[in-house]
Amino acid sequence: MAITHTLGFPRIGRKRELKFALEKYWAGESNESELQSVASEVRKFNWQAQSELNLISAGDFSFYDHVLDTAVRLGITPERFQQDEPAITTYFRQARGRAPGGTDVPALEMTKWFNTNYHYLVPELSEGQSFNLNIDDQLQQIRDAKATGKPVKPVLLGPVSFLALSKQRDGDEQTLKHLPALLKSYLLWLNALAAEGIVWVQIDEPILVTELDADWQCAINQAYQSLGSLQKIKILLTTYFGTLGANQDLVAELPVAGLHVDAVAGSEGLEAINNVWPEHKVLSVGIVNGRNIWRTDLRKAVDTLLPIAERRGDFLWVATSCSLLHSPIDLELEDSLDTELKSWLAFAVQKVNEVKLIAQAINLGIESIEQELQESDKAVASRQTSGRIHNPGVSQRITAISDADSSRSSGYSVRAAQQRKHLELPLYPTTTIGSFPQTGSIRHLRREWRGGRLSEQDYRDAISKEIAQVIHEQEELGLDVLVHGEAERNDMVEYFGELLEGFAFTRFGWVQSYGSRCVKPPVIFGDVYRSKPLTVEWIRFAQELTDKPVKGMLTGPVTILGWSFPRDDISTATIAQQIALALRDEVADLEKAGIKIIQIDEPAFRELLPLKISEQKAYFDWAVQAFRLASAGAQDNTQIHTHMCYSEFNAIIDAIADLDADVITIETSRSASELLDVFREYHYPNEIGPGVYDIHSPRVPDVEEIQALISRTQAYLPAERLWVNPDCGLKTRSWDEVRPALRNMVTAARNLRNKA
Ligand code: GLN
Ligand code: ZN
Repeated sequence: MAITHTLGFPRIGRKRELKFALEKYWAGESNESELQSVASEVRKFNWQAQSELNLISAGDFSFYDHVLDTAVRLGITPERFQQDEPAITTYFRQARGRAPGGTDVPALEMTKWFNTNYHYLVPELSEGQSFNLNIDDQLQQIRDAKATGKPVKPVLLGPVSFLALSKQRDGDEQTLKHLPALLKSYLLWLNALAAEGIVWVQIDEPILVTELDADWQCAINQAYQSLGSLQKIKILLTTYFGTLGANQDLVAELPVAGLHVDAVAGSEGLEAINNVWPEHKVLSVGIVNGRNIWRTDLRKAVDTLLPIAERRGDFLWVATSCSLLHSPIDLELEDSLDTELKSWLAFAVQKVNEVKLIAQAINLGIESIEQELQESDKAVASRQTSGRIHNPGVSQRITAISDADSSRSSGYSVRAAQQRKHLELPLYPTTTIGSFPQTGSIRHLRREWRGGRLSEQDYRDAISKEIAQVIHEQEELGLDVLVHGEAERNDMVEYFGELLEGFAFTRFGWVQSYGSRCVKPPVIFGDVYRSKPLTVEWIRFAQELTDKPVKGMLTGPVTILGWSFPRDDISTATIAQQIALALRDEVADLEKAGIKIIQIDEPAFRELLPLKISEQKAYFDWAVQAFRLASAGAQDNTQIHTHMCYSEFNAIIDAIADLDADVITIETSRSASELLDVFREYHYPNEIGPGVYDIHSPRVPDVEEIQALISRTQAYLPAERLWVNPDCGLKTRSWDEVRPALRNMVTAARNLRNKA
């Protein structure tokens, strides 16, 4: 009998109940027991949703982040948080710097969880870190789960991945030295679970799908030789987001009772692991995609698993590829999608059912799921042929792409000379990244308009006023290159998705991004194309109000793709090309409308980077090509900008240069010198605007500080290739912060100009 389970379930609540409960609690409008009771309802729902599986996952719930939970359970709380206060206060102060109660304090650093859009809190280890296990909260959850009557499988983040995700506070990079001490705590942890009558425990080691050097491989071996020696509990070692690659031989030798592999993101590795993983040990195959929203092709899934089942019998487990944390919760809630589109999709609740059906087909024969199989086949067939998905015009254009389409007519130096004449900008030109404050009144306007309480005309009039005001403010401030402020955009991807063909939007398709924050990615279901100009009208309107150049503002193909649920029936590269071609037409139309500078934002460019270095080249090939396809149709004297807001450029600097944007604006103010080192060492050839102040903070930088920062960058970059701008868009800031900050920025640039 194939056994069924998931690797974890979303914890934000079917209707984001936990989000709202958290925000209420943080605002001081509810107490801890009210928050706990919402959390308990969410867990109950989650277990109920998994009740038809053989094992239900527990202990994977979190109020904010499971990496923080792991750190807290291990007794790792940096000193600055240690006060005499309720545990939940310390917990939230670590997560967000403040809790109702306790003093404000710098929160833990937050960063992306592997190649997903989920963010975890980076544990901070001290030099002589000691560990002190306290898992009472998790044990209680496990007992509650057991009370449902189902066998329970607790979920733990593994010790080696935990150390790989942590940082050492005192400068020393080495976190591995803590492994021996950490393993003692994990042994206690497993013993405590065994004492609860737990048979199987899931231990996540996603680090195993990255390339590990000898030290880390050795750590994996050491950890599982130790933990695997416990006889009273069985370990299911879980890996996800890719293949085991070069770690496969190491893993195959580990003394654990079971191994989970991702058969979606790591489908190429499935056969190999099936061949080497011992037959008398459990192999859990993650065949249902935990990270996308497409209905599983049941027939194909069963076909893939049958040979494995024949070989392994009871030792085959059927699962989701990764935790369903990365999936929206329940398709049933979607009342505005048409039935055809809906028939193509599956969210977490539906995915659980798919896991069940696949196992049923294996255990009882394919006939036992005849009806569901027919529905699945129907969805597969209609996606293959639907006119809503396949547009011959789009595929013809893709086939006709030539190398020349991805290159500007001239090289950067020729273009730069022409642009200098065309734009007549001063030295150290000042600009902003695109958005100006999205004020409460702008958001209110949009709500009213969407709710049908404000007419299209009134909405447009109001947005025009906002744009005119933003242009006026920028002229007053004396900025050199203006923006229209993005008042008409709710979100930089959704806005484009709504205007392009091939996108659909859900009402409840929320996925946790961090803490209480969720995103609702658009669904790319069909060929993407542009049936009408996207941004031209507003940009033209803004440009007509001023003699200064106004930047056309587009979201790049990699980011639109990266922040959507992509199709799984064509390659990512092709989807990116389709989006790129639509943007290319937009660039041409903006030029026709008299726009001289066009910015194509790619904040997701780094995020999509594959976890394995060996796979990165292939990524760069399509991602860079897509950006170039979108931008390279521009005339030489049109200046193409791009923007990326993060500060880790090491792995991508060559690719960034390959984009061949005339100007790149980046985030630097938080780690200026290291970042610019990368650009200097590489001899970055084009223009750069290193962000001169941090827009994530309400602090207003003073003139001297900005000037000092620009002067410092001049050691690395010639003045004629330097721009002066904030780190990122200003939409989350208030006008009271934006005005003085930009005024100081403009003054700093002028002072330097006068000295030059
Ligand atoms: N143009 C966008 C803005 O200013 C860029 C946002 C981003 O980089 N995330 O808001
Ligand atoms: Zn940004």
